[in-house]
Amino acid sequence: MSIPARTRQEWQALDAQHNLHPFTTFKEIVDKGSRIINRADGVYIYDVDGNRILDGMSGLWCVNIGYGREELVQAAARQMRELPFYNQFFQCSHPPAIELARQLTEITQPHINHVFFTGSGSESNDTVLRMVWRYWSVLGQPERRIVISRKNGYHGSTLGGASLGGFGVVHEQFFGPIPNIVHIGQPYWYGEGADQDPAAFGLARARELEAKILELGPDKVAAFIGEPVQGAGGVIVPPETYWPEIQRICDKYGILLITDEVICGFGRLGSWFGADHYGVKPDLMPIAKGLTSGYIPLGGVLVGDRVAGVLKRDDDEFFHGFTYSGHPVACAVAAENLRILREEKIVEHVRDTAAPYFAERMSELAEHPLVGEVRTRGLMGAIELVRNKATRERFPAEANAAMTCREHCFRNGLVMRAVAQSMIVAPPLVITRAEIDELVDKARRCLDLTARDLGVH
Ligand SMILES: *Cc1c(COP(=O)(O)O)cnc(C)c1O
Repeated sequence: MSIPARTRQEWQALDAQHNLHPFTTFKEIVDKGSRIINRADGVYIYDVDGNRILDGMSGLWCVNIGYGREELVQAAARQMRELPFYNQFFQCSHPPAIELARQLTEITQPHINHVFFTGSGSESNDTVLRMVWRYWSVLGQPERRIVISRKNGYHGSTLGGASLGGFGVVHEQFFGPIPNIVHIGQPYWYGEGADQDPAAFGLARARELEAKILELGPDKVAAFIGEPVQGAGGVIVPPETYWPEIQRICDKYGILLITDEVICGFGRLGSWFGADHYGVKPDLMPIAKGLTSGYIPLGGVLVGDRVAGVLKRDDDEFFHGFTYSGHPVACAVAAENLRILREEKIVEHVRDTAAPYFAERMSELAEHPLVGEVRTRGLMGAIELVRNKATRERFPAEANAAMTCREHCFRNGLVMRAVAQSMIVAPPLVITRAEIDELVDKARRCLDLTARDLGVH
């Protein structure tokens, strides 16, 4: 092994000296030192000091089958020996990409029969934009360009992905969003609709899509994109009325429907894809993360027949793709990951066992004095922190409520992520009932410690 043994302090010093991290305030790393994780097994990660931590976030929403699966290691090693790299440009291909494409279309809805591979979720969303624009051009309607997305949605960090995303602070850093992308409101009932009935609120937020289409002109709108359940925005679970209404509006105006399945895909909601869970029929589905359980980078766009049919009769070349589109080693690992998900019935485990138990145990936390709402869907959950349960009053930003809780979690052997004023979790799909008990018990202890720090009783 070429990575030397060093102490935590040595790693932290070198990290601060040389390594710039994603989504990080760089100067904080110099002051505080980062957490150094050096191995993992099952649903647990270990830091260099040997502390065992239950990974309530599946890495970054991706280690669906859990850590330490030797079969994926073997699949990568076999493929590296056989053919470590070849590209798919200029009419070349290779068995791992072809086989994975075939297998993916077996688990999708019947109208989805093609895949365009990329290296990540962000690249998948850039690919979505390029496909949507090309689709309407080939159809002779190039003025249909506007893609409608949502505030507080997350679609990655390339310029296209970050523009689709709905975070104003992100847009400001690159003078974005890029042209032809507009945002409507999100179906965030607890935060934005609490004085309304959830069903009515869900309909109202979906109808913002129709209002926006009419405002812009239906002949100018190309597509709508949304995460089935928003992940990075804080596990925003839409009311039941939301997605059927979105589908109706897309159908009525003939605009393409895109569900960003980078988190919800591959079992997270107890179905293969979030679109299946909500009963919608997307034209395009960007995927990544759980596609390989994060063991190696790979993304793609699952393409429905409506779009594939038009793109396949384009006389021009589709001038788009990446060196690592359909990387053979990544495809071999993904195929092995799919085999494990299928043979071990992990999606069924989520649907029938893990998600119902997770929902039941998590809901107990709603009684905690610090908690305004607990919501779950599949194996995604959010705990909203409030100063006053009755009025839903929040803590002032300076109180750092969620970050305080996150620090307690790490110290007590649990990873939960802090998003604005909520704590979010999305554990590996293989989590057992006993491990869910451990997760919820630790979460409660950390909420107690946070309440004590914030002076809430
Ligand atoms: C993580 C994420 C992405 C971006 O994926 P990367 O692999 O980080 O580029 C896109 N969409 C959603 C919904 C995500 O959660």
